This record gives sequence, structure tokens and C-alpha cells, in this order.
Amino acid sequence: MIIVLKPNATEKEIEHVMDRVRELGLSPHLSKGQERTIIGVIGDDRLLANHPLRAIPGVEEVVPILAPWKLAGREFKKDDTIIDVNGVKVGSRKLAIMAGPCAVEKKELTLGIAHEVKAAGASILRGGAYKPRTSPYSFQGLGNEGLDYLAEAKRQTGLPVVSEILDPRDIEYFLEKTDIIQVGARNMQNFELLKEVGAYDKPVLLKRGLSATIKEWLLSAEYIMSRGNKNVMLCERGIRTFEAQYRNTLDLSAVPALKALSHLPIIVDPSHATGKWELVAPMAKAAIAAGADGLLIEVHSNPECALCDGEESLKPAKFKELMKDLKKIAEAVDREI
Ligand code: PEP
Ligand code: MN
Repeated sequence: MIIVLKPNATEKEIEHVMDRVRELGLSPHLSKGQERTIIGVIGDDRLLANHPLRAIPGVEEVVPILAPWKLAGREFKKDDTIIDVNGVKVGSRKLAIMAGPCAVEKKELTLGIAHEVKAAGASILRGGAYKPRTSPYSFQGLGNEGLDYLAEAKRQTGLPVVSEILDPRDIEYFLEKTDIIQVGARNMQNFELLKEVGAYDKPVLLKRGLSATIKEWLLSAEYIMSRGNKNVMLCERGIRTFEAQYRNTLDLSAVPALKALSHLPIIVDPSHATGKWELVAPMAKAAIAAGADGLLIEVHSNPECALCDGEESLKPAKFKELMKDLKKIAEAVDREI
């Protein structure tokens, strides 16, 4: 961190700033130029991240050098993180394709979709048992019964399952029934929930908040990791912009940007990003071309009767077709499905 002092800062003020830096266990290095004086702070200046240094008389500007996250950062860990989800290695050369209904519905329907996505080559089954709906009158999900159906689908197909948690009080059941716990966009900054999922080593799929910056998103990952859980994967699912033609705007630049900033696996969800099934396949292909480690795709055998997000769900046949096309894209970027 560099502290830039005001041109008219007095010697007494400069000494006071130096003392404050020392009090925090860091070492200040004074550098007096012809026009300006700066203090370089040596040590882990994240300790000062929320310190009101800028409020000390004589200080004009505080310029951080290190990223505010540590555990999630590439500086901390050079190699890509690979998360083993019951044998599916998320973040490896092999892409992780998570597919299934938006919401877990009737048991037979859920099992049917699970078999279809498995046959098409998916590696993980998705399904929401607790649904964070905008309207309180919309279908809220089957709750624990839905998690039971997912566990049965896993037993039948061998696919590990991912499902979204809304309430930290449900953690025990999620630990028992799921393989990846999803923290949804609406809860990306629910810090108590982040701390709760951080207390175990169960893999977490952390979705990007509706209007979250990459910095905020990585700091949310840091919340989980700083509690001990290093098995975090990030999921870009589109952000809110002025464009109303589709549900959200898929920020694909986030993929290479995150690859440089972080070692964590990055999954892309083209379903929630676009909100239109016709746009899902093109954006899924673009995501893999951009370097994503996997996809989260909504699939439903009868989208027009789906209880949630039918308009963005692929029918199994379309999903199968997409999987075939993805093989070619994966090859072109030295990955496999
Ligand atoms: C979901 O994946 O079921 C979901 C609700 O997505 P998001 O949190 O990205 O809106
Ligand atoms: Mn959905």
C-alpha cells in the first residue's frame, strides 16, 4: 500500500501517520520527492483494508497494491484448483457439465430428467429444492422432499447432485443429501450463509450476485475460504444491465478475467444469464471457448409445464445436440467433455 501525503503535510503529521502504520504491525518507508511525499507500507496491508487511514490529517490518498482477497487469489496459489466431487474433477481438463431442472418437481419427472441428462453426457445433476422466487406466490420448491428425490436420482444414475441452500438452518440436510451446495445469486452477500457453508469442506458453487462486481464476488468466496472451506467454485450467471431483450447480460469477460485473478474453477450458467432457451446453446459454446471449466444448464422434459423457468429450459433432445457440439469446441480449446 502506498500512502500519498498532502503537499502541505507537516513533519508532525507525517510522523503521526508513520506511528499509526507501526502500531498496526507494519513498516512504513518514507520517500520524500521534490513535490510530494509518499509512505510505502511493507507487510500484509490487507490488515489496513478497512482502516480509515484516509481520515488521518495530512493524508491525501491511500493506494492498495495487494488484492483485498488472499485465499481466493492467484498470487496465493499459482495452480488451478481442482475440486473432487465424488470422482468428478471440477476445474480439470475435463469439463463439468451440470444439468437438470430449475426446480425439483414430481419424483418421476425428476428421475426421468436425471436419466436423460446422464445419457446425454452430463456429469452432475442440478435441481432446486428450495427456490428463491421473486414473488411469494410462485412455487417455492419441495424443500427436503426435493433433496430426497435428488438423492434417489443420484442413487439411480450415479450423478453427484448440486442444489441451492437458502437458510443456514438447513445445512445438515444439505450435507447429507447433496454433493455441491449452491449459494445463489440473491445470497452471494448473505454473509452468515457464507460463513455457515465455509465451516465444512463440502464443495460450494458460489453464483455471482445480480449486480455484483468481480471484487465483491471474490470477497464472498474469501468469506467461505477464510472459514476453512477451500472447495469453492464460481458461477457466472449474468448480471443486470440496461438491456431488456434477455433476462440478464452474460459477462463472459469475467471468465478470462477471473482465470487471471483466481485459481478457483469457473462455471457458466447460460440459462439464467439469458432467460431464453434459444440463446442457451450459443452462449454455452461461447463460455467453453472463453475458458470456462463447466456449465450449469437447465433441462426439462416438458418446459411448457415447468413450475419454474420453463422458458429457459432445454428439452433433453436439444441438450443432447448441444453436448455433441460442445465436444468440438472443447477439443479446439484443449479440453474434453
Ligand atoms: C438457480 O440456479 O436455480 C438460480 C436460482 O440461479 P440464480 O441464483 O443464478 O438466479
Ligand atoms: Mn432457474
